[in-house]
Amino acid sequence: MIEHKRYRLLLLFIFSLFHSSSYAQKLSKQETQIIKNVEKNSPEAIHFLEETVNINSGTLNVAGVKKAGALYKKMLDEMGFTTTWIDMPSEMNRGGHLIGEIKGKKGKKLLLIGHIDTVFEPDSPFQKWKFQDSIAVGPGTSDMKGGNMVMLYALKALHEAGQLKDRQITVILHGDEESAGRPLDISRKDIIKAAKKNDIALSFEGSTGFNYATIARRGASGWFLKVTGKQAHSSGIFSDISGAGSVYEASRILNRFYEELQEVYLTFNPGLILGGTEVSLDSSGTKGNVSGKTNLVANTTIVKGDLRFLSEEQKERAREKMRAIVAESLPVTHAEISFSDGYPSMPPTDGNMAVLNVLSKVSIDLGQGEVKPWDPGKRGAGDISFVAQYLDSLDGLGVMGGNAHAPEEYVDLTTLEDIVKRTAILVHRLTAK
Ligand SMILES: [Zn+2]
Repeated sequence: MIEHKRYRLLLLFIFSLFHSSSYAQKLSKQETQIIKNVEKNSPEAIHFLEETVNINSGTLNVAGVKKAGALYKKMLDEMGFTTTWIDMPSEMNRGGHLIGEIKGKKGKKLLLIGHIDTVFEPDSPFQKWKFQDSIAVGPGTSDMKGGNMVMLYALKALHEAGQLKDRQITVILHGDEESAGRPLDISRKDIIKAAKKNDIALSFEGSTGFNYATIARRGASGWFLKVTGKQAHSSGIFSDISGAGSVYEASRILNRFYEELQEVYLTFNPGLILGGTEVSLDSSGTKGNVSGKTNLVANTTIVKGDLRFLSEEQKERAREKMRAIVAESLPVTHAEISFSDGYPSMPPTDGNMAVLNVLSKVSIDLGQGEVKPWDPGKRGAGDISFVAQYLDSLDGLGVMGGNAHAPEEYVDLTTLEDIVKRTAILVHRLTAK
């Protein structure tokens, strides 16, 4: 069965060889060589992806992350990168990060970003790679072992063409993108340090469409609302003595958020609410206990929510409005809201757009069509968000696929080679002079 699939892939591969002549005139001699190398390595690339997918590397599976990371390390070593494995403090319970670097003076200095971990821990029933016609199903196929493969096989094609010589490229593969180790200033210290030394960041998270890339991602943060009121008999609610109670006050606040805060790219989702006379939240922060009676005015209501935004300015403006709404308490109630930072945003910038334009030109020269910016409102936060403030950034350079984070996650095999080609030529053009 698998042999049959391999045969189909071989046919696709042969087709692409014929296909390649039509765009050859747009490519330089070195670029044509790079493309040939990508084609030659295609079957190996798919096998490599299969191998990495079949190693469980759920974020909390420290040994698995290290084991999958060792495959990436070996490949980087073979291409002449100086590699380092950075362990995280043991209490963080994360596998650590792989960093590889080649040093040189030509062109732009690049930071290439991937992650080794997946959301599928060893107890998940979803563990293995499986060919299904033109796709392969498996944990991390699209998010983002597929993207890691694209990055590494683009580098390999460049390496074999002698086009990594004198280039400055840093590769970072995190072991904890899906659930970043806390505190973030330790788990994201190395990527920020690397970002400060480079000019452009390219991240290989799943593609949102063959002709789209990501120049902006929204940031994510949290908020916690605590409302207190006076416990009293229900018959006295609305009186000067008993007031409105905490549930009405929380309702007022949430409704005002809903009515007054809505704007493009801003979302604020109350994910959990508890209100009554006895309220407690457990240490996970995702479960709680509550009791109350219909004949009692509730004295405590808590709400937990998130806040997603496209710029720090938008985040701060939203927080200010929320604080003002919270402060206008109903009679005999009091409310407080606190905020916590998570992922910063990656706002769209001219610099990010300029990198996208280089990619788009590459794509057109390869006969793959223009590449346009993806709507940031349709994409969540990612690791690139931690570094976007330091350098020009482009994300969504990984594979086409779907069902990320779900048990039928897959990669589209028919577009893989084209994406590796595009990436290889992009890296080449950014670093050639
Ligand atoms: Zn991912």
